[in-house]
Amino acid sequence: MPDDYQARVGQWVEAHGGAWPPLANLARLSEEVGELARALNGRFGPKTPKPTEHPGDLAEEIGDIAFVLAVLAGQLGLDLHQAAEDALRKAKRRDSERF
Ligand SMILES: [Mg+2]
Repeated sequence: MPDDYQARVGQWVEAHGGAWPPLANLARLSEEVGELARALNGRFGPKTPKPTEHPGDLAEEIGDIAFVLAVLAGQLGLDLHQAAEDALRKAKRRDSERF
């Protein structure tokens, strides 16, 4: 995700009425994770979609999750890009001799 993604999401959100409260965004994030789970389950799991049901788009759902995370991080004053870099650094340190 580009360095300026969070800022561009924040600009869009502000231009469209501002962010929902953090707990509402957490609920929205949960909804999007559920949509990803449904799409994954339809593709790799035992719960295949009905003939009339859209199978779900994995890339779209991952993008939706990234979008809500950018909104949530922005409203909490957190830098999503930095947080992602920190998580990678933590994984490298923690698992350097594990895999
Ligand atoms: Mg979605």
